Amino acid sequence: MNRLMAGAMWLLMSGVAAQVQAQQLRYEDIFTSEALRVELVHTAYRDRDVFALEALAIEPVWPGPRRNLIDPTGYGKYRFKVIDKATSKVVFSQGYCTLLGEWITTEEAASGAGRSMSEPLRFPRPKAPVQLVVEGRVEKTGKFAELARIEIDPSAYDVPSEKHFDFAVTTLHESKTDLARSVDVVVVPDGYSPLEMDKMRADAARLSRLLLASTPFDRHADRLSVRLVEAVGRGSGPDEPRKGWFQPTAVGTTFDTFRSPRYLTTADMRTLKRIAALSPYDTIVVVVNTNRYGGGGIPGWYSIYPSDSEYDEYVFQHEFGHGFAGLGDEYYTSPTSYDEDAFYAAGVEPWEPNLTIETARAKIKWGAFIPAEVPVPTPDDPKYDGVVGLFEGGGYKAKGIFRPTRNSKMFHKGEVGFGPVNEAAIEKMIRYLSDEEVRP
Ligand SMILES: [Zn+2]
Repeated sequence: MNRLMAGAMWLLMSGVAAQVQAQQLRYEDIFTSEALRVELVHTAYRDRDVFALEALAIEPVWPGPRRNLIDPTGYGKYRFKVIDKATSKVVFSQGYCTLLGEWITTEEAASGAGRSMSEPLRFPRPKAPVQLVVEGRVEKTGKFAELARIEIDPSAYDVPSEKHFDFAVTTLHESKTDLARSVDVVVVPDGYSPLEMDKMRADAARLSRLLLASTPFDRHADRLSVRLVEAVGRGSGPDEPRKGWFQPTAVGTTFDTFRSPRYLTTADMRTLKRIAALSPYDTIVVVVNTNRYGGGGIPGWYSIYPSDSEYDEYVFQHEFGHGFAGLGDEYYTSPTSYDEDAFYAAGVEPWEPNLTIETARAKIKWGAFIPAEVPVPTPDDPKYDGVVGLFEGGGYKAKGIFRPTRNSKMFHKGEVGFGPVNEAAIEKMIRYLSDEEVRP
């Protein structure tokens, strides 16, 4: 058995183990109906990570899956596990990415600098003491290794349950299922002053319509919910550092992230998650009051989208593809702030469902989607437009990383859909979060 086959076997077995373990976990035995938010601060240097606890908080309801307690996707640069102290069993896990995890691939980090950001993690509130284990992928292998282990007593008398904000929540679209079996999207607006509440509501409603009209979300409208937290700040519009504009807004979004003009993000996850907590949610979308083109989407973290860009539909779907479904960028021609080899190390299979380094049909993660008559790798020829194959270029690299279709929402703006592979990845995430069985 060669190394790659051993890897595939391991993946298969760990998937089976996760299913078996998940079946043995009964939500009611382990968790209350509330959520626990663990507000960590993550300090990263190129060669080390430090995590420390800032605060704990109880949220009134856990809106996520109750059967899919172990993340079946394998997505994310990081993963956290909740371990029951009495039995040493993993009772919950979830993969995610962070803005800090991207910063670590920039030149600034390569120069030896360190940086800290808030990193709040959330899971159902355990009834008994647990250990929270944070893992990160080892750059050279792509495998998870433990970065921190934090002791938590979720029933301690000093764990607060106060709300930090008092904004109204309105429902834009209601699912036909209960919270555990629905995918709950919370829209957090940023850059809206109290005088712009009407625009905020209209922008959020448009976003909700865009989501529900997008394939494959249109096929699952019955189990999607969209809610708006009507957050306002004093300023109007996001920060635009290049222009010297800085605005006091609700969650502090900014263009020019890592000196990339269109990269619109926020580093203030503590505030964002405190505001989001006013509503039940599985995924956060930040709608930013601006007509400038840009955006940002970080898997398991958030999707950020400008309210009035001319590429509205494309930007929303592209960023939501990142933030919601863990899809990677399929383009390789635009400049980025990342050191390419730090973002996708040579010889390491990306975890993203739409990127691979494998060129043998049987090992390509979307191999089952490639028709037998399509050559692999697939020539960059218009005759293969709309066909699933293995196209070279993706993940900011022209060589050595492959994508499933010649063009898609994750590649280029324009009149093109996600494509079958990305749609399947999105549907896998919908099944996971709506508590249906997910095959690894
Ligand atoms: Zn992107």
